[in-house]
Amino acid sequence: MATKIHQPMTAGIDRRGLMLVMSSPSGAGKSTLARNLLRDEPALSLSVSVTTRERRGSEIDGKDYHFISQRDFKIMRDNGGLLEWAEVHGNYYGTPLEPVQQAMSEGRDMLFDIDWQGALQMFDTARADIVSIFILPPSMAELQSRLVRRAEDAPDVIAKRLENSRTEMQHWSEYDYIIVNDDLDTSFLEVLSILKAERLRRDRRVGLHDFVDGLLKQSI
Ligand code: 5GP
Repeated sequence: MATKIHQPMTAGIDRRGLMLVMSSPSGAGKSTLARNLLRDEPALSLSVSVTTRERRGSEIDGKDYHFISQRDFKIMRDNGGLLEWAEVHGNYYGTPLEPVQQAMSEGRDMLFDIDWQGALQMFDTARADIVSIFILPPSMAELQSRLVRRAEDAPDVIAKRLENSRTEMQHWSEYDYIIVNDDLDTSFLEVLSILKAERLRRDRRVGLHDFVDGLLKQSI
């Protein structure tokens, strides 16, 4: 049973925090886009997932992921500590609930780099607060060459990820926005535009009624 996230409509918070969910097959450029977004948008924080996967050489525990054992993962999951979780490419991944509750209670935006299974679980729990983006590669050949170029995974792992990419891509139509990542700079501007526009949505701007009431009371 998925945990519901409730946001307080407290006076003083003039905008509800949003949850930006990004999914893509491995190698479509999602991690780079996410990294650039976090660099340029200090008001956005990353939901750091827990995973049972081995740490890659370039990854930092606690920053890219919390690397934990299968036993600890199961304890966390069974105690309701995860907002969503999934088995991806033979490893377990999950979103710790507590930091999300904290961010949402403060009206802060959060970025989730999760797969389609996790995204569907999140849609169930907080649809109105979620903005979802699916990143597609321009071609399968490009996807393969990006995975090989990244040179962070063994050949059998790359083969498995490529095979799984077809399943992942079949879920593109469940997302709000679709970006074909042909050129990283263009895709980055597109993601940024989505974030900026979604922040301005009327239903997220809870302080607006008071602001407009105040405006209408002002004399000219
Ligand atoms: P990677 O092993 O390449 O870091 O991630 C593999 C896949 O797992 C990616 O599609 C990534 O988005 C997804 N993933 C990472 N963290 C989570 C999570 O917390 N939940 C779910 N459902 N998927 C995740």
